[in-house]
Amino acid sequence: MISLIDLQAQFCSIQPEIEKEVQYVLKSGNYIMGPQVRTLEKKIAERLEVQEAVSVANGTEALTLTLEAFHIGVGDEVITTPFTFIATAEAISRVGAIPVFADVDPSTGLIDPQQIENKLTTKTKAIIPVHLFGQAADMDAIMEIARQHGLVVIEDACQAFGATYNQKPVGALGDAACFSFFPTKNLGSLGDGGMIVTNHERKASHLRRLRVHGSDRKYYHEEIGYNSRLDTIQAAILLVCLKHIDQWNNRRRELAEVYLQAFQSIPDLSPIVERETNKHIYHLYCLNSPNRDHYVEHLKNNKIAAAIYYPVCLHQQKAYQFLGYQKGDFPHAEGLTETIFAIPMHPFLTADNQQKIIEVLKEVHPQ
Ligand SMILES: *Cc1c(COP(=O)(O)O)cnc(C)c1O
Repeated sequence: MISLIDLQAQFCSIQPEIEKEVQYVLKSGNYIMGPQVRTLEKKIAERLEVQEAVSVANGTEALTLTLEAFHIGVGDEVITTPFTFIATAEAISRVGAIPVFADVDPSTGLIDPQQIENKLTTKTKAIIPVHLFGQAADMDAIMEIARQHGLVVIEDACQAFGATYNQKPVGALGDAACFSFFPTKNLGSLGDGGMIVTNHERKASHLRRLRVHGSDRKYYHEEIGYNSRLDTIQAAILLVCLKHIDQWNNRRRELAEVYLQAFQSIPDLSPIVERETNKHIYHLYCLNSPNRDHYVEHLKNNKIAAAIYYPVCLHQQKAYQFLGYQKGDFPHAEGLTETIFAIPMHPFLTADNQQKIIEVLKEVHPQ
């Protein structure tokens, strides 16, 4: 079986380094908020060219705490995409605000700024663009809308560590940005983890308080907070992964280039477009085809994994029925759920296996 991603190969490639760092933490006894947590925050802030990085328990809580730190809550509207993982909208709902969806550009799956403008009301407080599959949303246009209307922009960068937009790192483009270190993300730990980055120093201190029960000083609580910390062990593991992330992202880009060349000769396959402003890091490699189901079946028959991101838009999820959206409200996002599929993409995919995947896809429509 050729799998979509290969976490075991990734682990094995750095096993001695990880074991050394984990042993060190195990022996230190410092399992919560050990020094590796602060070191990781500093390294990530430096790397993303931002003032502050605040680690938290996962990407979903990174979004939730950030919304709360920017005082977004009951009655407020937050515009986001219906074509994302549910966590983006869940965080909005968790702080009591209302997710308002705006349709996507069908060539990329990224939120369309024109559609954001159509959704603005007097209740709109924030925009959460998602850097879907590993490439940046149209941040110039989004920041301009936000500037004109006094809105907060929180980047959902959970799929895009190391991606850039006009040479600037994703994460340094909005008022704050959220990352996830779920193991399958392109920068993944060996458990859950998340990070918020921002240039607002006061928001960062608020976030540091929110993640430890609203407390600056142990057993004195300024406000009602959360228990949302990154484990020391995960921070130590992420410090190792951080040393390799550029090499891994570059390998993903090399593989994407080979796929792109190969698929030019298959008329009913169109890869997600990498925009000119973007360095896409291919967290996922997605394609569209009107014959998607044939492709997926043929891949599976040949022991090659394929998966659908995402089979159902958020406005069509049972959990969000109460918002009252209808089928047809977001034709581009809904269209993508019918045609999109992901094929194997990870830094340890061999050239031979990639050629096999390409050959199998070509068999569906012989040249
Ligand atoms: C993974 C993901 C999240 C949530 O991250 P967790 O760490 O799993 O909580 C949020 N948004 C997007 C776009 C994601 O892909």
